[in-house]
Amino acid sequence: ATPTALLVGTGRGSQLGILIGGPEVLEQTRRVDTIVLDKTGTVTTGRMELSGLVAADGGDTTELLRMAAAVEHGSEHPIARAIVTAAHEQSIAAGEAESFLAEPGNGARAVVDGRLVLVGRLDWIEREWAGAAAPMIRDAALAAEQAGSTVVAVAWDGAVRGLAMVGDTVKQSSAAAIGHFVRLGLTPVLLTGDNAGVAAAVGSAVGIADVRAGVSPQGKLEAIRALQAEGRVVAMVGDGVNDAAALAAADLGIAMGSGTDAAIAAGDITVVSGDLVVVADAIRLARRTLGTIK
Ligand code: ADP
Ligand code: MG
Repeated sequence: ATPTALLVGTGRGSQLGILIGGPEVLEQTRRVDTIVLDKTGTVTTGRMELSGLVAADGGDTTELLRMAAAVEHGSEHPIARAIVTAAHEQSIAAGEAESFLAEPGNGARAVVDGRLVLVGRLDWIEREWAGAAAPMIRDAALAAEQAGSTVVAVAWDGAVRGLAMVGDTVKQSSAAAIGHFVRLGLTPVLLTGDNAGVAAAVGSAVGIADVRAGVSPQGKLEAIRALQAEGRVVAMVGDGVNDAAALAAADLGIAMGSGTDAAIAAGDITVVSGDLVVVADAIRLARRTLGTIK
């Protein structure tokens, strides 16, 4: 839906900074009993920073960052921005990339200096190139994930050349917002394509017990459908291209205004500020508004 009208009724929707697709959205907002939240950019700031680099034996981290940045130059993913910014800060001139291709939920690929370079989930790269990475790389990835880092692998010439560790922080108001959802009678669910270590850390920081990690964009859509099949009325909050299908399938799709155009187009509501407390306010307001009409 195109967010054209401001929240109807009192005009307070516009003060909250909520754009809604149409009047039927208000009824859906009132009915929801489950709220599914994407992690990166929704519960967390989405402003990721590079926190470490590991090169495979004999490799050099500058070359690793140069190759990764060349690929990620073409991507709008928060991880991509972290890598490009780090290369820039270290005055590393990114290589020239051609034939960039994003793989939502997995990573990205491009040809750099005539070589095919993949940047993304280690298990995706292992599947693409049908081979396990060196034990040193697998061990380092596992350790970083358990410590709560997002880990991306960088590969070229058919082998994983190293890892980049990135991370962002939970938004200041996220824990309070989850508290509001629970008091409104909603069950919160955290749904992320990121690894289980990061997901568990974020879930416990904000008070979400139902945490589902390593979920592909298609898996997010299926999770929404499974909840609906249980009889739940589901709101989905997201910001990424990887959330678009789930946002469209949810009974109420809520896009973060800071998010991608694909997410905003797929949502029924856009929260301009990207603040989750505003989502709780909107649900409360929708219930109250309908209450006075009846
Ligand atoms: P989330 O659900 O947290 O928003 P995504 O579905 O966008 O996560 O991505 C899932 C995982 O896929 C990321 O944690 C990362 O490992 C990998 N990934 C996706 N896009 C990229 C990219 N452009 N560069 C590197 N890794 C990526
Ligand atoms: Mg996201």
